[in-house]
Amino acid sequence: MSLLQKVVRVAAPVLFFPGIANGQQAPAGRIGIQKEYVNEISRLAGDPLVKKMFTEITRLEPETRRDHISLTEIPAPPFKETERAKAFASMLGAAGVDTLWLDPVGNVVALRRGTSGKRNVVVDAHLDTVFPEGTDVKVKFSGDTLKAPGIGDDTRGLAALLAGLKALNRAAIKTDANVYFVGTVGEEGLGDLRGIKHLFAQKTFPIHSHIALDGVGIGGIVNSAVGSIRYRVAYLGPGGHSYGAFGLANPHHALAKAIAYFTDEANEFVKSGVKTTYNVGMIGGGTSVNAIPFESWLEVDMRSESPERLAGLDAIFRNAVEKALKAENSVKRMGEDLTVKLEKVGDRPSGSIPGTNPLVQRAAASAAHLGAVPMVAASSTNSNIPLNQGIPSVTIGSGGKAGGAHSLDEWWLNENGEAGIQHMLLVLLAEAGLAK
Ligand SMILES: [Zn+2]
Repeated sequence: MSLLQKVVRVAAPVLFFPGIANGQQAPAGRIGIQKEYVNEISRLAGDPLVKKMFTEITRLEPETRRDHISLTEIPAPPFKETERAKAFASMLGAAGVDTLWLDPVGNVVALRRGTSGKRNVVVDAHLDTVFPEGTDVKVKFSGDTLKAPGIGDDTRGLAALLAGLKALNRAAIKTDANVYFVGTVGEEGLGDLRGIKHLFAQKTFPIHSHIALDGVGIGGIVNSAVGSIRYRVAYLGPGGHSYGAFGLANPHHALAKAIAYFTDEANEFVKSGVKTTYNVGMIGGGTSVNAIPFESWLEVDMRSESPERLAGLDAIFRNAVEKALKAENSVKRMGEDLTVKLEKVGDRPSGSIPGTNPLVQRAAASAAHLGAVPMVAASSTNSNIPLNQGIPSVTIGSGGKAGGAHSLDEWWLNENGEAGIQHMLLVLLAEAGLAK
Protein backbone atom coordinates (compact mmCIF):
# COMPACT_ATOMS: atom_id res chain seq x y z
CA MET A 1 0.00 0.00 0.00
CA SER A 2 2.01 2.80 1.31
CA LEU A 3 0.48 5.88 -0.11
CA LEU A 4 2.33 8.57 1.72
CA GLN A 5 -0.37 11.07 1.81
CA LYS A 6 -1.49 11.82 5.32
CA VAL A 7 0.35 14.99 6.12
CA VAL A 8 0.43 16.46 9.56
CA ARG A 9 2.29 19.72 9.66
CA VAL A 10 4.33 20.23 12.76
CA ALA A 11 7.40 22.35 13.40
CA ALA A 12 9.46 20.11 11.11
CA PRO A 13 9.77 17.62 9.60
CA VAL A 14 6.56 16.57 7.94
CA LEU A 15 4.86 13.36 8.98
CA PHE A 16 3.55 10.92 6.47
CA PHE A 17 1.67 7.78 7.29
CA PRO A 18 2.20 5.02 4.80
CA GLY A 19 -0.60 2.96 3.45
CA ILE A 20 -3.28 5.51 4.00
CA ALA A 21 -4.94 6.92 0.94
CA ASN A 22 -5.64 10.59 0.71
CA GLY A 23 -8.61 11.57 2.81
CA GLN A 24 -9.10 8.05 4.13
CA GLN A 25 -6.63 7.99 6.93
CA ALA A 26 -7.41 6.16 10.09
CA PRO A 27 -7.52 8.47 13.09
CA ALA A 28 -4.00 9.33 14.12
CA GLY A 29 -3.32 10.13 17.71
CA ARG A 30 -0.81 11.87 19.87
CA ILE A 31 1.01 9.48 22.09
CA GLY A 32 2.23 10.00 25.62
CA ILE A 33 5.86 9.04 26.19
CA GLN A 34 7.00 7.46 29.42
CA LYS A 35 9.98 9.04 31.14
CA GLU A 36 11.95 5.82 31.06
CA TYR A 37 11.99 5.85 27.25
CA VAL A 38 12.71 9.57 27.01
CA ASN A 39 15.74 8.89 29.20
CA GLU A 40 16.77 5.80 27.29
CA ILE A 41 16.76 7.62 23.95
CA SER A 42 18.57 10.68 25.22
CA ARG A 43 21.21 8.47 26.88
CA LEU A 44 21.67 6.65 23.57
CA ALA A 45 21.86 9.86 21.55
CA GLY A 46 24.47 11.21 23.96
CA ASP A 47 26.75 8.19 23.62
CA PRO A 48 30.04 9.15 21.93
CA LEU A 49 29.78 6.28 19.44
CA VAL A 50 26.23 7.24 18.52
CA LYS A 51 27.37 10.85 18.08
CA LYS A 52 30.09 9.61 15.75
CA MET A 53 27.49 7.56 13.87
CA PHE A 54 25.36 10.68 13.41
CA THR A 55 28.36 12.56 12.00
CA GLU A 56 28.89 9.69 9.57
CA ILE A 57 25.27 9.96 8.40
CA THR A 58 25.99 13.57 7.46
CA ARG A 59 29.24 12.63 5.69
CA LEU A 60 27.42 9.90 3.81
CA GLU A 61 24.71 12.21 2.48
CA PRO A 62 26.08 12.56 -1.10
CA GLU A 63 26.49 8.77 -1.27
CA THR A 64 23.01 8.19 0.16
CA ARG A 65 21.62 10.44 -2.56
CA ARG A 66 23.48 8.45 -5.25
CA ASP A 67 22.24 5.14 -3.82
CA HIS A 68 18.70 6.50 -3.71
CA ILE A 69 18.82 7.59 -7.34
CA SER A 70 20.44 4.46 -8.69
CA LEU A 71 18.01 2.15 -6.87
CA THR A 72 15.04 4.21 -8.05
CA GLU A 73 16.21 3.82 -11.65
CA ILE A 74 16.13 0.01 -11.41
CA PRO A 75 12.51 -0.91 -12.14
CA ALA A 76 10.84 -3.11 -9.52
CA PRO A 77 7.33 -3.84 -10.78
CA PRO A 78 5.11 -6.16 -8.73
CA PHE A 79 6.50 -9.73 -8.89
CA LYS A 80 9.56 -8.49 -10.80
CA GLU A 81 11.84 -7.21 -8.07
CA THR A 82 14.81 -9.45 -8.87
CA GLU A 83 17.02 -6.94 -10.62
CA ARG A 84 16.61 -4.38 -7.87
CA ALA A 85 17.03 -7.08 -5.23
CA LYS A 86 20.37 -8.12 -6.69
CA ALA A 87 21.61 -4.52 -6.81
CA PHE A 88 20.45 -3.87 -3.26
CA ALA A 89 22.14 -7.07 -2.08
CA SER A 90 25.43 -6.06 -3.61
CA MET A 91 25.18 -2.60 -2.02
CA LEU A 92 24.55 -4.14 1.40
CA GLY A 93 27.45 -6.50 0.80
CA ALA A 94 29.75 -3.62 -0.10
CA ALA A 95 28.65 -1.72 3.01
CA GLY A 96 29.67 -4.72 5.11
CA VAL A 97 27.57 -7.44 6.72
CA ASP A 98 28.35 -10.87 8.17
CA THR A 99 26.13 -12.93 5.86
CA LEU A 100 23.91 -12.05 2.98
CA TRP A 101 21.42 -14.06 0.94
CA LEU A 102 18.35 -13.94 -1.25
CA ASP A 103 15.65 -16.10 0.29
CA PRO A 104 13.29 -18.36 -1.70
CA VAL A 105 10.72 -15.61 -2.36
CA GLY A 106 13.34 -13.04 -3.35
CA ASN A 107 13.82 -11.04 -0.16
CA VAL A 108 17.33 -9.69 0.40
CA VAL A 109 18.44 -10.67 3.90
CA ALA A 110 21.66 -9.31 5.41
CA LEU A 111 22.80 -10.28 8.89
CA ARG A 112 24.91 -7.98 11.06
CA ARG A 113 25.78 -10.17 14.04
CA GLY A 114 25.30 -9.02 17.61
CA THR A 115 27.64 -9.71 20.50
CA SER A 116 25.23 -12.03 22.29
CA GLY A 117 22.95 -12.73 19.35
CA LYS A 118 20.25 -13.90 21.74
CA ARG A 119 17.61 -11.81 20.05
CA ASN A 120 16.98 -11.00 16.39
CA VAL A 121 15.79 -7.57 15.29
CA VAL A 122 14.69 -7.01 11.70
CA VAL A 123 14.61 -3.67 9.94
CA ASP A 124 13.13 -3.72 6.46
CA ALA A 125 12.09 -1.58 3.53
CA HIS A 126 10.22 -2.90 0.52
CA LEU A 127 11.81 -3.41 -2.87
CA ASP A 128 8.67 -3.39 -5.00
CA THR A 129 6.82 -0.45 -6.49
CA VAL A 130 3.28 -0.32 -7.88
CA PHE A 131 4.48 0.65 -11.36
CA PRO A 132 4.20 -1.77 -14.28
CA GLU A 133 7.06 -2.77 -16.55
CA GLY A 134 8.00 -0.09 -19.03
CA THR A 135 7.30 2.84 -16.66
CA ASP A 136 9.91 5.58 -17.05
CA VAL A 137 11.76 5.52 -13.74
CA LYS A 138 14.56 7.91 -14.68
CA VAL A 139 14.98 10.43 -11.88
CA LYS A 140 14.30 14.03 -12.85
CA PHE A 141 15.47 17.02 -10.92
CA SER A 142 13.37 20.06 -10.21
CA GLY A 143 15.35 22.37 -7.97
CA ASP A 144 16.15 20.26 -4.91
CA THR A 145 13.29 17.89 -5.53
CA LEU A 146 13.84 14.40 -6.95
CA LYS A 147 11.03 13.15 -9.16
CA ALA A 148 10.41 9.58 -10.26
CA PRO A 149 7.86 6.84 -9.71
CA GLY A 150 8.82 5.02 -6.51
CA ILE A 151 11.31 7.66 -5.33
CA GLY A 152 9.58 7.95 -1.95
CA ASP A 153 7.63 4.69 -1.65
CA ASP A 154 9.75 2.88 -0.76
CA THR A 155 13.10 3.47 -2.46
CA ARG A 156 13.87 6.14 0.11
CA GLY A 157 13.44 3.42 2.72
CA LEU A 158 16.03 1.24 0.95
CA ALA A 159 18.49 4.15 0.73
CA ALA A 160 17.98 4.95 4.42
CA LEU A 161 18.54 1.30 5.33
CA LEU A 162 21.85 1.31 3.46
CA ALA A 163 22.94 4.62 4.97
CA GLY A 164 22.08 3.30 8.43
CA LEU A 165 24.17 0.17 7.94
CA LYS A 166 27.13 2.17 6.65
CA ALA A 167 26.93 4.62 9.56
CA LEU A 168 26.80 1.77 12.09
CA ASN A 169 29.88 0.20 10.50
CA ARG A 170 31.85 3.43 10.23
CA ALA A 171 31.23 4.18 13.91
CA ALA A 172 32.12 0.54 14.71
CA ILE A 173 28.98 0.16 16.77
CA LYS A 174 28.22 -3.25 18.20
CA THR A 175 24.75 -4.37 19.10
CA ASP A 176 23.82 -7.03 21.59
CA ALA A 177 21.11 -8.56 19.36
CA ASN A 178 21.60 -9.71 15.78
CA VAL A 179 20.30 -7.17 13.30
CA TYR A 180 18.86 -8.27 9.97
CA PHE A 181 18.68 -5.64 7.23
CA VAL A 182 16.02 -6.80 4.80
CA GLY A 183 14.71 -5.66 1.43
CA THR A 184 11.28 -7.27 1.08
CA VAL A 185 9.39 -8.21 -2.06
CA GLY A 186 5.66 -8.04 -2.61
CA GLU A 187 4.52 -5.32 -0.22
CA GLU A 188 2.27 -3.57 -2.71
CA GLY A 189 -1.15 -4.56 -4.05
CA LEU A 190 -1.45 -8.14 -5.20
CA GLY A 191 2.03 -8.81 -3.85
CA ASP A 192 -0.08 -9.29 -0.73
CA LEU A 193 2.86 -8.91 1.69
CA ARG A 194 4.39 -12.12 0.38
CA GLY A 195 7.94 -11.07 1.28
CA ILE A 196 7.22 -10.28 4.90
CA LYS A 197 4.88 -13.28 5.18
CA HIS A 198 7.75 -15.52 4.16
CA LEU A 199 10.15 -13.80 6.54
CA PHE A 200 7.88 -14.50 9.50
CA ALA A 201 7.14 -18.05 8.33
CA GLN A 202 10.76 -19.14 7.78
CA LYS A 203 12.38 -21.25 10.47
CA THR A 204 16.04 -20.21 10.09
CA PHE A 205 15.85 -17.48 12.72
CA PRO A 206 13.06 -16.31 15.03
CA ILE A 207 12.24 -12.62 14.92
CA HIS A 208 11.76 -10.81 18.22
CA SER A 209 11.22 -7.29 17.00
CA HIS A 210 10.53 -5.69 13.62
CA ILE A 211 10.87 -2.18 12.27
CA ALA A 212 9.59 -1.33 8.79
CA LEU A 213 10.71 1.80 7.00
CA ASP A 214 7.85 2.95 4.84
CA GLY A 215 6.68 6.49 4.41
CA VAL A 216 8.75 9.58 5.01
CA GLY A 217 9.07 12.22 7.74
CA ILE A 218 9.74 10.81 11.20
CA GLY A 219 6.70 11.43 13.36
CA GLY A 220 4.31 8.78 12.06
CA ILE A 221 4.33 5.46 13.92
CA VAL A 222 2.14 2.67 12.63
CA ASN A 223 1.36 0.33 15.54
CA SER A 224 -1.96 -0.94 14.29
CA ALA A 225 -2.51 -2.96 11.14
CA VAL A 226 -5.48 -2.38 8.90
CA GLY A 227 -6.31 -5.86 7.68
CA SER A 228 -7.80 -6.51 4.29
CA ILE A 229 -9.36 -9.35 2.35
CA ARG A 230 -9.66 -9.22 -1.42
CA TYR A 231 -11.51 -11.51 -3.77
CA ARG A 232 -11.85 -12.00 -7.46
CA VAL A 233 -15.25 -13.51 -8.14
CA ALA A 234 -16.37 -14.86 -11.51
CA TYR A 235 -19.83 -16.13 -12.45
CA LEU A 236 -19.56 -18.51 -15.40
CA GLY A 237 -22.24 -19.78 -17.75
CA PRO A 238 -22.75 -21.05 -21.30
CA GLY A 239 -23.41 -17.63 -22.87
CA GLY A 240 -25.40 -17.17 -26.04
CA HIS A 241 -27.45 -14.90 -28.26
CA SER A 242 -29.44 -12.28 -26.40
CA TYR A 243 -32.63 -13.06 -28.32
CA GLY A 244 -32.13 -16.59 -29.57
CA ALA A 245 -30.82 -17.96 -26.30
CA PHE A 246 -32.96 -15.85 -24.03
CA GLY A 247 -33.63 -17.68 -20.82
CA LEU A 248 -30.07 -18.79 -20.20
CA ALA A 249 -28.76 -17.81 -16.79
CA ASN A 250 -26.90 -14.52 -17.15
CA PRO A 251 -23.60 -14.04 -15.28
CA HIS A 252 -23.88 -10.24 -15.31
CA HIS A 253 -27.33 -10.43 -13.76
CA ALA A 254 -25.96 -12.66 -11.03
CA LEU A 255 -23.02 -10.33 -10.44
CA ALA A 256 -25.31 -7.30 -10.17
CA LYS A 257 -27.45 -9.15 -7.61
CA ALA A 258 -24.34 -10.14 -5.64
CA ILE A 259 -23.16 -6.54 -5.45
CA ALA A 260 -26.63 -5.34 -4.42
CA TYR A 261 -27.07 -8.02 -1.72
CA PHE A 262 -23.56 -7.40 -0.41
CA THR A 263 -23.60 -3.62 -0.33
CA ASP A 264 -27.07 -3.43 1.26
CA GLU A 265 -26.07 -5.65 4.13
CA ALA A 266 -22.50 -4.35 4.39
CA ASN A 267 -23.76 -0.79 4.59
CA GLU A 268 -25.74 -1.66 7.73
CA PHE A 269 -22.87 -3.71 9.17
CA VAL A 270 -20.28 -0.94 9.00
CA LYS A 271 -22.52 1.76 10.48
CA SER A 272 -21.23 1.01 13.97
CA GLY A 273 -18.02 -0.25 15.53
CA VAL A 274 -14.42 0.02 14.41
CA LYS A 275 -13.97 1.54 10.94
CA THR A 276 -14.63 -1.21 8.42
CA THR A 277 -14.78 -0.56 4.70
CA TYR A 278 -15.61 -2.26 1.42
CA ASN A 279 -15.20 -1.46 -2.24
CA VAL A 280 -16.03 -3.28 -5.43
CA GLY A 281 -13.19 -1.78 -7.43
CA MET A 282 -13.41 -3.59 -10.73
CA ILE A 283 -16.06 -5.41 -12.74
CA GLY A 284 -15.81 -6.91 -16.20
CA GLY A 285 -16.80 -9.56 -18.68
CA GLY A 286 -19.12 -9.82 -21.64
CA THR A 287 -18.48 -9.61 -25.36
CA SER A 288 -21.32 -7.65 -26.93
CA VAL A 289 -24.56 -5.88 -26.12
CA ASN A 290 -26.52 -8.62 -27.89
CA ALA A 291 -24.70 -11.56 -26.29
CA ILE A 292 -25.46 -13.21 -22.97
CA PRO A 293 -22.00 -13.17 -21.39
CA PHE A 294 -20.26 -16.41 -20.48
CA GLU A 295 -18.39 -14.64 -17.70
CA SER A 296 -18.90 -11.78 -15.29
CA TRP A 297 -16.27 -10.90 -12.73
CA LEU A 298 -15.55 -8.43 -9.97
CA GLU A 299 -12.76 -7.56 -7.58
CA VAL A 300 -13.59 -6.45 -4.07
CA ASP A 301 -11.50 -5.05 -1.22
CA MET A 302 -12.63 -5.13 2.42
CA ARG A 303 -10.71 -3.60 5.33
CA SER A 304 -10.76 -3.25 9.07
CA GLU A 305 -8.43 -2.80 12.01
CA SER A 306 -10.50 -5.43 13.80
CA PRO A 307 -10.03 -9.07 12.80
CA GLU A 308 -13.58 -9.85 14.04
CA ARG A 309 -15.19 -7.07 12.00
CA LEU A 310 -13.24 -8.12 8.93
CA ALA A 311 -14.36 -11.72 9.37
CA GLY A 312 -17.96 -10.53 9.75
CA LEU A 313 -17.84 -8.53 6.54
CA ASP A 314 -16.15 -11.42 4.76
CA ALA A 315 -19.05 -13.70 5.72
CA ILE A 316 -21.57 -11.16 4.43
CA PHE A 317 -19.73 -11.02 1.12
CA ARG A 318 -19.49 -14.78 0.64
CA ASN A 319 -23.19 -15.20 1.52
CA ALA A 320 -24.15 -12.54 -1.02
CA VAL A 321 -22.17 -14.32 -3.74
CA GLU A 322 -23.92 -17.64 -3.03
CA LYS A 323 -27.34 -16.06 -2.67
CA ALA A 324 -26.98 -14.28 -6.03
CA LEU A 325 -25.94 -17.54 -7.69
CA LYS A 326 -29.05 -19.29 -6.41
CA ALA A 327 -31.27 -16.34 -7.31
CA GLU A 328 -30.06 -16.15 -10.90
CA ASN A 329 -30.19 -19.92 -11.41
CA SER A 330 -33.74 -19.98 -10.05
CA VAL A 331 -35.01 -17.58 -12.73
CA LYS A 332 -33.32 -19.16 -15.75
CA ARG A 333 -35.72 -20.63 -18.31
CA MET A 334 -33.29 -23.01 -19.94
CA GLY A 335 -29.71 -24.26 -20.07
CA GLU A 336 -27.11 -25.07 -17.48
CA ASP A 337 -26.78 -23.49 -14.09
CA LEU A 338 -24.23 -20.76 -13.58
CA THR A 339 -21.22 -21.63 -11.46
CA VAL A 340 -19.15 -19.26 -9.40
CA LYS A 341 -15.43 -19.13 -8.84
CA LEU A 342 -14.32 -17.31 -5.70
CA GLU A 343 -10.61 -16.63 -5.54
CA LYS A 344 -8.96 -14.90 -2.60
CA VAL A 345 -6.40 -12.54 -4.12
CA GLY A 346 -5.47 -10.66 -0.97
CA ASP A 347 -5.26 -11.48 2.69
CA ARG A 348 -3.60 -9.02 5.01
CA PRO A 349 -4.33 -9.81 8.62
CA SER A 350 -5.01 -7.12 11.21
CA GLY A 351 -3.55 -6.70 14.67
CA SER A 352 -2.00 -4.07 16.90
CA ILE A 353 0.24 -3.36 19.84
CA PRO A 354 -0.63 -0.71 22.42
CA GLY A 355 1.06 2.66 22.58
CA THR A 356 2.65 1.54 25.84
CA ASN A 357 4.63 -1.23 24.11
CA PRO A 358 8.37 -0.54 24.50
CA LEU A 359 8.95 -0.52 20.72
CA VAL A 360 6.21 2.07 20.18
CA GLN A 361 7.52 4.08 23.13
CA ARG A 362 11.04 3.99 21.72
CA ALA A 363 9.85 5.15 18.32
CA ALA A 364 7.86 7.95 19.94
CA ALA A 365 10.73 9.01 22.21
CA SER A 366 13.13 9.00 19.26
CA ALA A 367 10.81 11.06 17.05
CA ALA A 368 10.31 13.58 19.85
CA HIS A 369 14.04 13.70 20.54
CA LEU A 370 14.60 14.58 16.88
CA GLY A 371 12.05 17.38 16.99
CA ALA A 372 8.91 15.76 15.58
CA VAL A 373 5.52 15.23 17.17
CA PRO A 374 4.99 11.46 17.36
CA MET A 375 1.60 10.29 16.20
CA VAL A 376 0.38 6.70 16.19
CA ALA A 377 -1.74 5.47 13.32
CA ALA A 378 -3.30 2.42 11.73
CA SER A 379 -2.26 1.42 8.25
CA SER A 380 -1.60 -1.51 5.95
CA THR A 381 2.13 -2.15 5.85
CA ASN A 382 4.65 -4.94 6.35
CA SER A 383 3.90 -4.59 10.09
CA ASN A 384 0.56 -6.36 9.51
CA ILE A 385 2.21 -9.76 9.67
CA PRO A 386 4.18 -9.45 12.93
CA LEU A 387 1.39 -7.45 14.58
CA ASN A 388 -1.06 -10.22 13.74
CA GLN A 389 1.33 -12.76 15.29
CA GLY A 390 1.79 -10.72 18.45
CA ILE A 391 5.39 -9.79 17.60
CA PRO A 392 6.29 -6.15 18.35
CA SER A 393 6.48 -4.14 15.13
CA VAL A 394 6.23 -0.54 14.02
CA THR A 395 6.36 1.09 10.64
CA ILE A 396 8.18 4.40 10.77
CA GLY A 397 9.20 7.04 8.24
CA SER A 398 12.63 7.25 6.63
CA GLY A 399 12.96 11.02 6.58
CA GLY A 400 12.48 13.83 4.10
CA LYS A 401 9.33 15.01 2.49
CA ALA A 402 7.37 13.34 -0.31
CA GLY A 403 4.17 13.36 -2.29
CA GLY A 404 2.35 11.72 -5.16
CA ALA A 405 3.00 8.18 -3.96
CA HIS A 406 1.69 5.55 -6.40
CA SER A 407 1.51 8.20 -9.12
CA LEU A 408 3.88 9.01 -11.97
CA ASP A 409 4.41 12.43 -10.37
CA GLU A 410 5.93 11.03 -7.20
CA TRP A 411 8.58 13.26 -5.62
CA TRP A 412 10.94 13.31 -2.66
CA LEU A 413 12.71 16.26 -1.10
CA ASN A 414 15.68 15.99 1.22
CA GLU A 415 14.22 18.17 3.94
CA ASN A 416 16.04 16.98 7.04
CA GLY A 417 16.28 13.51 5.55
CA GLU A 418 19.17 12.69 7.87
CA ALA A 419 16.71 12.73 10.77
CA GLY A 420 14.99 9.70 9.24
CA ILE A 421 18.23 7.71 9.29
CA GLN A 422 19.02 8.87 12.83
CA HIS A 423 15.49 7.92 13.87
CA MET A 424 15.76 4.39 12.45
CA LEU A 425 19.12 3.87 14.16
CA LEU A 426 17.98 5.18 17.54
CA VAL A 427 14.96 2.88 17.53
CA LEU A 428 17.08 0.00 16.25
CA LEU A 429 19.80 0.51 18.86
CA ALA A 430 17.23 0.77 21.63
CA GLU A 431 15.71 -2.53 20.51
CA ALA A 432 18.95 -4.33 19.74
CA GLY A 433 20.94 -2.92 22.68
CA LEU A 434 24.19 -1.01 22.34
CA ALA A 435 26.97 -3.43 23.31
CA LYS A 436 30.03 -2.13 25.09
ZN1 LIG B 1 5.41 1.46 0.74
